[in-house]
Amino acid sequence: MKPTRVLVVDDSELARALVVRALSQAGYEVLQAADGAEAAVMAFRTLPQVVLTDLEMPTMDGNQLLRLLKSDPSTASIPVIILTSHNEAPSRFWGLATGADAYITKDASPQELVAEVHKLAQRSPTVTQPPGALPQGPLDVLARVAKTLDQALMKATLTSSLLAQGIGSSDWLTACRRVVRLLREVVDGEVFAVGVAEAHTVSMYVAAERQLSLATFDAVNKQVLDHLPLTPGAEVELTYDGEHNPERLLQGTGDLRFFPLPLREAEGVLAILPQDELTFRTVSEPLLSELTNPIALVLDNARLAQRLRELSSLDSLTRLLNHRAIFERLGEELARASRRGLEVSVILADLDHFKEINDTYGHLAGDAVLRAAAQLFRHLLRASDGLGRYGGEEFMVVLPETTLEAASHTAERLRQSLERQTVPLATGEKVSVTASFGVACASELVGPKNPDALVSLADMRLYQAKAAGRNCVKP
Ligand code: GH3
Ligand code: MG
Ligand code: MG
Repeated sequence: MKPTRVLVVDDSELARALVVRALSQAGYEVLQAADGAEAAVMAFRTLPQVVLTDLEMPTMDGNQLLRLLKSDPSTASIPVIILTSHNEAPSRFWGLATGADAYITKDASPQELVAEVHKLAQRSPTVTQPPGALPQGPLDVLARVAKTLDQALMKATLTSSLLAQGIGSSDWLTACRRVVRLLREVVDGEVFAVGVAEAHTVSMYVAAERQLSLATFDAVNKQVLDHLPLTPGAEVELTYDGEHNPERLLQGTGDLRFFPLPLREAEGVLAILPQDELTFRTVSEPLLSELTNPIALVLDNARLAQRLRELSSLDSLTRLLNHRAIFERLGEELARASRRGLEVSVILADLDHFKEINDTYGHLAGDAVLRAAAQLFRHLLRASDGLGRYGGEEFMVVLPETTLEAASHTAERLRQSLERQTVPLATGEKVSVTASFGVACASELVGPKNPDALVSLADMRLYQAKAAGRNCVKP
C-alpha cells in the first residue's frame, strides 16, 4: 500500500523540520513547502491526503491557502490542519470559518500531531483529477487565488447590500422587490418568484425579464405553490412585476429551480427560471446557496415590521382598517381635500338584523358573514377608497374626490352585491345578509369640515335607512 502523503507548509525551516521528522517516523510520505503559493502548486499537482499549514507566511498565508484549496473542487475534500503558534480566538475563528478541519498549536506534542494527522487521513478520500485541470505554475495558482478572493468578496458585498436594503424595507412586498432587483443583477434568471406561506395567507411575488404567457405564468405559480405547505382555504395574494412586451413573450416554464428560505414562523421558497442552464449551475447556484440566509433575514424583518404596523391599524377579523385607522384616514382625506378644494364623501354601512344571524347560526357563522362582507366591499371599491370596520357590524368607506351622487351610487352597488352574495357556512348551510347605508359628502357641511361632523351626518342617514325598512341607501 502506498504511504499516506502529507504536505507540510511552514516558512520556518526549523519548525518544518520538527513536523517532518515526527511524521516521517510515523511512516508518512512528507512533502514540504515554505510558502502558501508554493504549497498550492504542490497540492494541486500531487493531491496529498492531508495538508498541515502554518498561518503566517510571506507571499500567501495559511488562511489564503486554506480558502484556495477548499474552493477548488479538486482539492476541496483534502483535510487541512492549521498549525500555528497563535492560539488567539480571532485567528482560530477565521481558520475554522474558512473551512480548516483542525487547529493545532505548535506546542502540541509530536504524538498529538501525528494522532490528528492519522485521524484526518482516515477521513480523506482518495482524490483523483483529470490531468487537464492541473494548474501549471504559481501564476496559474495566483489566478485561482484572485478568483476565489473575488468570489468571497462578491458574496460578502452582496450579503451586505441585501441587509442594507432589508433594513429599509418595512413591508413584505417592498423587501421582495428589493431582493429580486438585486438578484437580477447578479443571478442569471428569466423569472424570479418568492412564495411565503403563513397560517391563513400565501404571499407570492413574481418578477420576469420578459412578458410571461398566461400558461407560463400559471405554471410558475402552481409550481411555487406546490413547494409550499398550503392550508385549505388559504388566501393567495399575488403580485406580478412583468415586462409588457408581447414581442418577447416567454412560453413554457423550463426547469424552475427552488431554494428554500429559512424563515421564522413561515415557510418560504425562492424560485428562479435560469436563462442558461450551464451559467446558472456554475455561477448562480453556488452564489444563491450562500444568499438564502440573508434573504430570509431581510424578508423576516420586513414581515415583522409589517405585522407590527398592521396590529395597530388593522382589524384582526376582517383585515380591514380598524376604527381608529379609518377615522384617521377620513381626517387625512378631509385635510387634503380642503387644501386642494376637492370633494370627499363617506359611506356608513350597518348589516341588517345581524343579531339574528348570530342567534340562528352561532357567533362563528356571524364572523364568517362579517369577513365575507368585508372581502366583497374591498373587491368592489377602488384601491384609493378607504375601507374600515367602524364597529361590530358597521363599515365605513372613505371616498376621496367623490361627490355625494357618485358616493350614493357606489353605496347602491355595494348594497346590491351584498344582497346577492351567499356565504357558505362550515355546516354546509348558506346565509345571506343585507345592509343599510348612510352617505354624506363634505361639501354638504356648513362650517368646519371635520370628521365628526361628516360621520354624524352619514350616521343620521343610516338611521333613516333603517327606519325606512333597511336594505336601502340614504340619500
Ligand atoms: P339592525 O338591522 O337594527 O342593525 O339590527 P342588528 O341586529 O344588526 O343590530 P344590533 O345592534 O341589535 O346587533 C348587532 C349585532 O352584531 C350584535 C352583536 O353581537 C353582533 N356583532 C358585533 N360584532 C360582532 C362580531 O365581531 N362577530 C359577530 N359574530 N357578531 C358581532
Ligand atoms: Mg346592524
Ligand atoms: Mg350596528
